Amino acid sequence: MIAINNITKSFGKLQVLKGIDLTIGKGEVVSIVGPSGAGKTTLLQIIGTLDRPNTGSVHIDGIDVTSLSNKKLADFRNRHIGFVFQFHQLLPEFTALENIMIPAYIAGTSSSEAKQRASELLQFMGLADRANHKPNELSGGEKQRVAVARALINNPTVILADEPSGSLDSKNKAELHQLFFDLRDQYGQTFVIVTHDEQLATLTDRTIHLRDGELEQPETVEPSEQPVEGEDAVADQHSAAE
Ligand code: ADP
Repeated sequence: MIAINNITKSFGKLQVLKGIDLTIGKGEVVSIVGPSGAGKTTLLQIIGTLDRPNTGSVHIDGIDVTSLSNKKLADFRNRHIGFVFQFHQLLPEFTALENIMIPAYIAGTSSSEAKQRASELLQFMGLADRANHKPNELSGGEKQRVAVARALINNPTVILADEPSGSLDSKNKAELHQLFFDLRDQYGQTFVIVTHDEQLATLTDRTIHLRDGELEQPETVEPSEQPVEGEDAVADQHSAAE
């Protein structure tokens, strides 16, 4: 589902990602943990196509997103990727239902279809009776669930969450975490979650530890999985040396 191949990223002289290789399977719920400044958000932004790596490639759903033009990338992002942030970022002047429908409008879905899907998602979230409430009439946990529903409206294959439970109390935190697993089971989405929350990290299928721009336990590539071109290049070097 997500294949990250040797990506690096620098901001000025600061190298934030130093060659990351990572493969995430369809329907996996993966957490990324690590100290502040380790590069977690930068990695998530690159997976989410909100930023580009300096070198290396990212494939999502078999598509090399690093090679797409900005215009194609925006379309790809809206259709394939859903985002959940620490602070829900709902628009205050719109109702819960309308907030959820916004990405569908952007994708050109008809309003009746968008409304139906948004209503289904609200139902799934246990928020059917909150459809016409504005964000300031919702609790913190409810707002975050509306934000998750908004991330799901275009039926993306990947959901990226940056500290999604960071602003919630422990009860709402547990409910949000459970929701991610329920969604994965129901819709088969792949989740990548940046978190400081050890409890969430231990529940996920896999935890990736990032430190100082590198994975603490890099993925090992079996010799048989080495790219053929690489083998040729090595063979060429040998023959050149002979
Ligand atoms: P984490 O999420 O692990 O706390 P980040 O990916 O947010 O780490 O940041 C890693 C480093 O990159 C930090 O030192 C941060 O200040 C720097 N950084 C992140 N984004 C930018 C940017 N847009 N411009 C300059 N420096 C940045």
